[in-house]
Amino acid sequence: MRGFGMHTVNDVGWIEKDRPACGPLDAIIRPTIVAPCSSDTHASHGGSGPKTEMILGHEAVGIVDEVGASVTRFKVGDYVAVPCVTPDWLEPGVQNTTAFTHDVRMFGSFKFLGVKDGTMAEFFHVNQADANLALIPEGVSPEAALMTVDMMSTGFRGAELAEIEAGDTVVVIGIGPVGLMAIAGAALMGAGRIIAVGTRPKAMEIATSYGASEFISYKDGPLLDQVMARTDGKGPHKVIIAGGDGKTLGEAVAMTRPTGIISNINFYDVSDKVEFPMLWWGLGMADKTIRGTFCTGGAERIVRLMDMIKYGRIDPTLMITHKFDGFDQLPEAFDLMDKKSPDLIKPIVYLR
Ligand code: NDP
Ligand code: ZN
Repeated sequence: MRGFGMHTVNDVGWIEKDRPACGPLDAIIRPTIVAPCSSDTHASHGGSGPKTEMILGHEAVGIVDEVGASVTRFKVGDYVAVPCVTPDWLEPGVQNTTAFTHDVRMFGSFKFLGVKDGTMAEFFHVNQADANLALIPEGVSPEAALMTVDMMSTGFRGAELAEIEAGDTVVVIGIGPVGLMAIAGAALMGAGRIIAVGTRPKAMEIATSYGASEFISYKDGPLLDQVMARTDGKGPHKVIIAGGDGKTLGEAVAMTRPTGIISNINFYDVSDKVEFPMLWWGLGMADKTIRGTFCTGGAERIVRLMDMIKYGRIDPTLMITHKFDGFDQLPEAFDLMDKKSPDLIKPIVYLR
């Protein structure tokens, strides 16, 4: 079969592989729509380690093409959304976590890009299908379902970890698709004022429709000063970080009020360093909680997010700015994601 992936670091292209084998608990999926992600481009530049001949992609919806002998909840022909994080539910390490992202290893449940080929292929493998596939219900389009598997799950997790309470002032740093979903999550959880950080007009327009009340540009001087000036020196109750670098984390800690929460969903670079004056963290005594997390996995998470779409709480398809038609368009879509044109939020590729 054919897939699109990385030959080695900084070298992407078509890759020929055997169709993956299906274990007794597993399924083989024929993807119908995939979405390239910032994390795929990160990986192609070496962000997941020095991988070779690895098919990229971890966001997909598709049709079940084969199921293992022990799979009971799915059959060939079912239309499913596939969470990008597919835990091995038999692992005690997974059973002991809440986001199911890590087993004994960090990111152990992120199988695509981690330990096996990804979704940008004619077929891909899903472990433990009964617990890691979600049927797309009536009332949810495949495009909307596709937005749940990583963007919505990650962005909402950022809001959940921030423990948004009614009326909270929240700063969301970054308004790419992940930050946009954090804004939507925070708004749905009851945030009052949502100050968003980002500059691209298209992203600002979408952020407004998801609930952002105002914007700050990180290009106009230190975020800390700008946020403090707008909040009478008090700072927000919660900060969600979905963009920026090590310096951003320090500023987020500094701007957060005592007892507040800093919830990070940003993927830092290995070269990023975090250094900030201890006074910013209340000399260690201000009850400011710093958290960082990864996308939440498993089928039930996706079922819940698709319910939010089905019952009209959110339309994540507003984020889809570019549509590509056909398998051969994968390199172009990936290149667009890599170079990030100013009007790009989320591209999708119809494979068939
Ligand atoms: P985008 O690149 O689309 O968006 C990044 C945002 O951050 C943009 O709004 C950008 O501003 C803003 N930004 C850039 N530099 C700075 C800075 N110095 N200070 C403040 N803001 C800045 O990324 P995505 O939304 O796709 O992803 C966001 C992050 O989340 C990435 O690191 C990605 O790898 C990570 N991610 C994490 C996951 C997880 O499980 N934790 C899952 C998926 C992705 P502007 O508007 O000017 O472009
Ligand atoms: Zn992703």
